[in-house]
Formats: sequence, structure tokens, C-alpha cells
Amino acid sequence: MISSFVIPAGLLALTALATRVVGPLPDDLAAFLRVYPWIVLVAGVLLGLRFRRGRVVIAVVAIALADRMLLRFGAGTVGEDAARWAFNATAFLLPLDLAWLSMAPERGTLTPIGFARLTLIAAQPAVAAFVWLSYQPRLVSLLGRRVLPAGLTAAIRMPDVALVAFAGSFVAVAVLCALRRNALEAGFLWALVACFMALESNRSPSLYLATGGLILVVALLESTFAMAFRDSLTGLASRRAFDEAIEKLAAGYVIAMVDVDHFKAVNDRYGHDVGDQILRMVASRLEAAGNGVRAYRVGGEEFALVFPNRSRDEVLVDLENLRAAIAESGFALRSADRPTRRPKRVKPRPESAPIVAVTVSIGVAESSGRLTRPAQVLRAADTALYKAKREGRNRVCV
Ligand code: GH3
Ligand code: MG
Ligand code: MG
Repeated sequence: MISSFVIPAGLLALTALATRVVGPLPDDLAAFLRVYPWIVLVAGVLLGLRFRRGRVVIAVVAIALADRMLLRFGAGTVGEDAARWAFNATAFLLPLDLAWLSMAPERGTLTPIGFARLTLIAAQPAVAAFVWLSYQPRLVSLLGRRVLPAGLTAAIRMPDVALVAFAGSFVAVAVLCALRRNALEAGFLWALVACFMALESNRSPSLYLATGGLILVVALLESTFAMAFRDSLTGLASRRAFDEAIEKLAAGYVIAMVDVDHFKAVNDRYGHDVGDQILRMVASRLEAAGNGVRAYRVGGEEFALVFPNRSRDEVLVDLENLRAAIAESGFALRSADRPTRRPKRVKPRPESAPIVAVTVSIGVAESSGRLTRPAQVLRAADTALYKAKREGRNRVCV
């Protein structure tokens, strides 16, 4: 998550710096800044298509169109009123577009829904132009209306209505970020900030807009990277992350393998959806299993815990508490969530909500003495896990 903060903030700071260079820009930089928005647009479209992130494709198109609008109908190129209308309409629509795209489910680009979304974006300048040409004075003046106390917005360039749209969008996307904790949503939040700065900057809105697009491109790469190392069901680090992490461990660590007992039977009896919910519940308990613990999902219903810089005896209490907590928690079936997808062979449920008993078996090994290589410790933990299964499950073995 740190990179979701540092990279966008850094890009914005660089942009702000570039816009504040006094005197003529060096030729190379000026030439680069002219192609910069196009590079971002092409990169966003190509990467969005390749990684199936239609929302990013459509968002960079929306940003590029906003840029065109501001350039084509900027002050000095058309009459003052027309320029103000183009600015007001862009400042109002762009944040709403970004907020909407950040919340919309992913439906691709070259799909019917993708095309419909692109059309909706492309139609906006056309509608704005139509409103202007047919001169709907009420609509035009609506976007310029004062709705906030003048003292509050004295330093703000955009009209109140656009400011409200930005503020609302920002809050909505921020809430979404907090809920989903995904790099892409964080990218949308930062892109909103960049667009706000673009509309408030009278020197070079294009640069800020392009940076907004670039932030989305980086966020797309970031979220793709996270997909390789995170398990999407439980949110834990994945097998690949585990394999890499244990190779980097310094001597003096403990590995615990955790396997859900009779999980196949749970799946057969209550359905795969309930199985998935149980996996999530177990995962969230594993994450809180001890001080400094790192939890991984290494297989279907198999998890690994790594305790760096700890000895076996230090973590045994934690693991025993963990085992007991899971065994005691019981998993209450919440039927309202899954009215349609229950398998046919499930028997009618009794009146009270049934409790699914969930237990785990845990095998523990530490790096010491003859076990020096991670692979050896891992094998020893696996052996201990089998022992726990053989001895009757729902226990911790070393
Ligand atoms: P044991 O106590 O010996 O571990 O018995 P078990 O049934 O847990 O062991 P086994 O390895 O035979 O079965 C694992 C089952 O886990 C098989 C599969 O149906 C289920 N499973 C694997 N991945 C998932 C998943 O992502 N979601 C769900 N719901 N079930 C899964
Ligand atoms: Mg199992
Ligand atoms: Mg298993």
C-alpha cells in the first residue's frame, strides 16, 4: 500500500515542479511534455486492453477528452462565455466520470458494456456542445451557479457546482478505497486529485491531466502485480509469495503448516460457497495468530504461518490458542446470503441456524540444528502436520 501513496504523490509533485519552471523550458523537456499526454493515453489504452481493465482504458480516454475540451475551447480560442461553459462542463463531468468508473464492475473494453461506456464518455463533449449551441440558458447558468458561501471558495477557480462534484466524488472513491483496499481504486482517488489540480492550474492543465492518467496506468500495473502475490479469496499472501519469502528468512524462525480438517466433507455437505466463507474466517484468524506472524494461503485449504526471529517454544502457545479459537468459534450458516446457489442435495435446515464445526490441524517446525534450509524446515512442518492428522486432528504437533 505504501507504493499506492508514494508513487502518485511523487508524480504529482514532479508535475507541479515542471509547471513552475520559470523562464523557457529546455527544448528536450518542452518536446517531451508535448508528447507526454499522448504517451499516457496510448499506454493506458494498450495496457488496459492487455490486462483487461476496461475501466482504466475508459478513464484515460475520458481524461484525454477533457484535455482536448480544455485546449480546443480554452480562453482566447473561442468567446469568453463559450470557454467558461466548456470549462464548467468539463470540471463538472470529469470527477463524476472517474468516480463512476472506479465503482463500476469490470466489464472489459471491447465488449457491449465496454462500448456503451465509451460511447457515454464520448457523448459528453457532444452533449455539452449541443447544450451550448442550442443555448439552453438555464442549463448553462446552472453549472455556474453559486451554491457555497463565497468566502469558502474564494481561492477556487472552478465553479461551486464542479467543486461539489469533485468533493462528492472524492469522498465516494475514498470510502471505496477503504473498503476494497485495491491499488486500482487508490489510483482512481489520486487521479481525481490530479484532475482537480489540472482544473485549478491556469498554467498547464494538460500536464496534470496526463499525470492523472499516468497514475492510473501505474495503479493498473500495481494491482496486476498484487494479483500474482495475493490470494483473491482470503486476501492473504499467496503460495508464490510464500516460496519467495522463506528463501529470504534469516536463521531462527518457525514455520507452521495449517490444514482445515475434513474440509472436503464440509464442502460436500454445505456447498462450496460455505466452504469459501470458512476459508475466509480461518484466514482472518491466522493473520492475528501472533506477534509478527505472516500468514499465507499455500493451497486449497492449506495455510502456512511464518514467525521470523522466534523459537518453537515461543510460538506454541499462540498456535494452541489459535487452534482452540477456531475450534470454539463454530461457523454459523447465514442463509440470507445464499438463497439460490445451494446445492440440491443439502437437507432442509433445522429451525435454528446450524453451526458448522470447523477445526484445523497444525504442524510446527523451527530452523535449528540439522534443519537449516527452508525446504527442510518446511518438510518437517509437513511431517508434523501429518502426525497431527493421524493422531486425530484438531491439534498442534511438532
Ligand atoms: P483432512 O482432514 O485429511 O485434511 O481432510 P480434507 O477433506 O480437509 O482433505 P483433502 O485434502 O482431501 O480435501 C481438501 C478439500 O478442500 C478438497 C476441496 O474440495 C476443498 N477445497 C480446496 N480449495 C478450495 C476452495 O478454494 N474453496 C472451497 N470451498 N473448497 C476448497
Ligand atoms: Mg484438510
Ligand atoms: Mg489438505
